[in-house]
Amino acid sequence: MNETAAADQAHAWHPFTQHADWCALGHEPLVLVEGEGAVLRDSAGREYLDGNSSIWTNLHGHRHPRIDAAIRAQLDRVAHTSFLGFTHPPAAQLARELVALWPTDSLTRVFFSDDGSTAIEVALKMAAQFWQQSGQPQRTHFVAFTGAYHGDTMGASSLGGIATFHDRFAAWQFPVHHVADMDELTALTTGANPKSEILNPKSVAAVVIEPLIQGAAGMRLWPRGMLAALRSWCDTHGVLLILDEVMTGFGRTGTMFACEQEGVIPDFIALAKGLTGGYLPLAATLTTERIFAAFLGGPERTLYYGHSYTANQLGCAAALASLAIFREENVLARLRDQIAHFTTLLAGLRALPHVADIRQCGFIAGIELRQESGASFPPEALTGARVCLAARKHGLLTRPIRDVVVLMPPYCITDAQLARAVEAVELAIAEVK
Ligand code: PLP
Repeated sequence: MNETAAADQAHAWHPFTQHADWCALGHEPLVLVEGEGAVLRDSAGREYLDGNSSIWTNLHGHRHPRIDAAIRAQLDRVAHTSFLGFTHPPAAQLARELVALWPTDSLTRVFFSDDGSTAIEVALKMAAQFWQQSGQPQRTHFVAFTGAYHGDTMGASSLGGIATFHDRFAAWQFPVHHVADMDELTALTTGANPKSEILNPKSVAAVVIEPLIQGAAGMRLWPRGMLAALRSWCDTHGVLLILDEVMTGFGRTGTMFACEQEGVIPDFIALAKGLTGGYLPLAATLTTERIFAAFLGGPERTLYYGHSYTANQLGCAAALASLAIFREENVLARLRDQIAHFTTLLAGLRALPHVADIRQCGFIAGIELRQESGASFPPEALTGARVCLAARKHGLLTRPIRDVVVLMPPYCITDAQLARAVEAVELAIAEVK
């Protein structure tokens, strides 16, 4: 066995992984050693298309010369310095550039952290403390959506609505009101549904949502207009709106941010994954001057929150390079054509007897599998996982969400590579079904 695989199986513990299977006799983990553009290479020299952008992070491809150079140049100065008590050029510049992506005087403040989960934790703590310091301390409740996924730290996972991931820790999580849609939200706060509890909207601190599409729920699309309706509900009741654009941010849905498509500006937005182009762990929580101002005053108004690697200099340098690529390589305009091409390719899968549904939002697709009879596959058949494993033989790496195969490649993927990725899924479905 490959030395890396052996050391891994002996000592490493992987996320979301049953190690009885991972370490089972006959399972040799894939060892990825190189990448270039949309392609990843394993230790045996085999090449694969990075079909889920290395778990939804990579935007412009691996080893993009511009991001590589920016990180190297930053390394020649310094890799990391504390953001607690000091500042540095890449973070200050990045904060300025992130704010410039929004209409003037909307989202004006940037708090850096490490990943999607911490970007959400920051927003939760800011929202809770904001109300304590704004004369409405009764606003303590948070509302989130059924099927939501906002990360795995205890606060972020309190918002989660996926039983397998979240229910086990219910006793340690803070209580969150989960609703399925706008109707349930309205029913919750008006008592329209006699079976549900009644929540006074004046006791709600914030609502948290993944806009346009719920990722880990299985690439579930919200109805058009839902986000705008939610913003309007929040405005009516004075509730803060937290958008989790950890997956959807930075072009994934076809616009720089998903919320632009419904003309919505949130009170907080959580950004991570693609912020550095998928190179380094860095996150940002953006908020408004109204929220920021409530934290000014004596020490008791301070946000006592932070992480050691907050605003890591290498990460900020990578993020600045990624934003420069958006500006100078016409990424969003090119993406429009790529999304249209993606739609055409996916249409070819729709007629397959084992495809129940294809949900696409920009450069994100979820291909839901089913039996020929129309019924779902039994969960223990692990059909989605087996299809993704079979796709490897056809040169595609991706992961399913249960029986939904995810395709979400880097934006640098060529039309021919994209066609190969979709074809690999088709061949894999035909082999497994
Ligand atoms: N929010 C959303 C919408 C996500 O999809 C994820 C991760 O997949 C997270 C938050 C958590 O991000 P991270 O894994 O970087 O903590």
